[in-house]
Formats: sequence, C-alpha cells, structure tokens
Amino acid sequence: MSPAVHYWNYPTEIFCGADALDLLGQRCRLLNMGRPLLVTDPGMLTLEPFNLLVAQLHRAGLPVAVFSELGANPSLEDVQRGVVAFQSGEHDSLIALGGGSAMDAAKGIALAACDPEGLERFEWSQIIERYPSLSDFPALGLPPLIALPTTAGTGSELGREAVLTDTRLHVKRVISHPQLLPACVILDPQLTRSLPPALTAATGMDALTHHLEAFCSPLYHPMSSGIAVEGIRLVSQHLRQAYANGQDLVAREGMLVASAMAAVAFQKGLGGVHALAHPLGARYHKHHGLLNAILLPYVLVANQPVINADIARLARYLELPQPDFRGFLDWVLALRAELGIPHSLGEIGLDTADADWVGAQAVADISSSETNAQPLNAEQYRTIFCNAVHGVLPGVRP
Ligand SMILES: [Zn+2]
Repeated sequence: MSPAVHYWNYPTEIFCGADALDLLGQRCRLLNMGRPLLVTDPGMLTLEPFNLLVAQLHRAGLPVAVFSELGANPSLEDVQRGVVAFQSGEHDSLIALGGGSAMDAAKGIALAACDPEGLERFEWSQIIERYPSLSDFPALGLPPLIALPTTAGTGSELGREAVLTDTRLHVKRVISHPQLLPACVILDPQLTRSLPPALTAATGMDALTHHLEAFCSPLYHPMSSGIAVEGIRLVSQHLRQAYANGQDLVAREGMLVASAMAAVAFQKGLGGVHALAHPLGARYHKHHGLLNAILLPYVLVANQPVINADIARLARYLELPQPDFRGFLDWVLALRAELGIPHSLGEIGLDTADADWVGAQAVADISSSETNAQPLNAEQYRTIFCNAVHGVLPGVRP
C-alpha cells in the first residue's frame, strides 16, 4: 500500500447507559449464543457485577458456565486452560466480564480454540508484514464475544487485540485478529460502581494515557486525533468525581465512554509510557494503569520538544488556566496527586538495578516503534525510567 494511502477502520455496536445490561439476553439470542462461556477474573465472583450478569443469563434461560482461572495479567497458560474449558463444555460463544484481563483472556481463548496454528502468527510483530489490512487476515469463524467492562481504562472491549503475558520470557505478547473485536459491547455504569477508588484512579489514568499517547502519535489519523481530544475532556470532567463517589453513575458512565473511545483513538498508536509500562508490568507484576499514571509526566517532559504546540492546543480546549505545556503538565500532576497516585516508581518498590534491560525492552515494544511522538533510543528510555524511579522530573523548557 502506498504510504500516501491511510488505512482506517471503526469498531462494533455499543449499547451504553444505566440498564444497558438488560439487553444481554436479547443480544445473546440475536448472535445465536446458546452455550456461552463466561470469562471473568476470580475476584469478580463475589461482586455485584457478576451477580447482576448471572441474573440476566437466568432471565434469558441461558446456562451459566464460568471460567475464572486468570492472573491479573493473563498469561498464555491461562488461555490454554480456558481453551480446555471452552472445548470440554462444548461452548459456542464467550461473554467477558471484567477489566482488560478478562476481556483479553476471552479473546485469547476464542482465537486459540479455533486456530490450529497457534497464536504466534497473529503476534503484532508478524502481522504488519503478513496481514497489512483487516481483509488480509484468514477468516477463522471465531465464536462471538460480548464484552462487559467492569473497569473504565483498558478499552479492550473496542479493540481487536489481546495482551497476553509470556511467563517464560517475562514479556507481553500482543495478539491481533479482526474477529477478536467483540460482536457487541455493553457499557453499563452499574458494572463499574463497585470498583474501589484506587483502581478507579489507576484505570482512569490508563484511559487518559491512551488518549494522550494517541493524540501525540505522529501517524496521520485525524478521526482518532479528534476522538482523543474529546476523550481527554471527558476524563477531565469525570475522573475526579468517579474516584470521589463511586456511586455517581453519570461520572461512571462518562469514564466508561472515555475508556472505550480511547481504544478507537489508539488505532493511531501508543507511545513511550506504554513502551515502558509493558515490560515493567510483565517483570514486576504491577498494575498497568498505575505504572502508566506514574510514568506519564516523565515521558511528556521527554517528548516536549515535539509536542509543545499540540499540547498547548489541547490545554486551550480543556480551558486550563495556563493554556500551554507547563499548564497541561501541572494539570496532570495535580490530577495524579488528587487520585492518590505516587510520584515515583521507587514508591511502589521499583529500583534501577534492571535499567539497561528496561531501556532495551522499551525500544523493542510496539508502542515505541513508530508511534511515540519522537523516536527514543534505549539510553533515552533508560534515563526516563531512572528519573521515574527517583521521582526526578526534569525542568520544562520555556
Ligand atoms: Zn494502557
């Protein structure tokens, strides 16, 4: 494809709002889902969203079968166990209830259960070469998936990717196939109101980071840029309130929409924050959103020379009192502090012993290849990481 031609695509059907969950039975029927496997994380089994969803399945006369043997960062082994559950239960479809881990695991199960050649050929590093557009992928007839997020951050419900941890190599593998996009997404704020404040903060900052890194990506995708700008405004409007009062369904819905929009925005790519957070999450098992939230200001300052004008434009749209890079950075720092997020990676127990490894892994991550605001090398990533460990934020240029 000529570089002057841009390839864009947009997502699936979405039902959004309080009580959208009531549509679950009807959507299962329309998608011919007679024996769905419900994929969720083990912590969800005693919580309100799980009970609400099971009640809907009972009401629709659908059997309830649950697979919940997942880690917080789902692994390739978790997926294999899920495939056994899917096949031995003769399931025909999947329902994912949870955050990114449940949704990514469900996608991995769908693909691994149907593809005899394994997941490797759909790994991100392979697919750009092999499958440059959606219609180049082989049609695998994957089972339909309905996604119901219980956090507002990952946006996995609107993505065609699954992030799965390779526990042998301590790296995250990004698997992509067009049929991994859920057939239907239900954004119901009732499902996020029991999310504790610390997770509301970390996942919300993940959504903000998705929008911001997509906005700063140099790839040409004006539709995604527009979505990112409005998504950041939604975060600025709703995240504090969702954190302060989890029962506020307006704020919860605002964050669910912002999070889902972010997955559309980051068709434009992610950047240095994710390039660092991916290896750190795989090695140290820290929450993805928390890592992003801590790293964000350090990467913003490193990228400042190339994003200064765009960030000033964004600051004007957000009507910040100081509509320039400094004002925007201050807004991020204040938001982070209000949400109880530490300023340094040192405060969550990381040190710089593996800094060389972190720098090398960040360069190799897909988020840094072409879509960080500017190319960064391993030494630059190493420096950003060390600054973030020690809480040293370099000065902002005038
Ligand atoms: Zn993320």
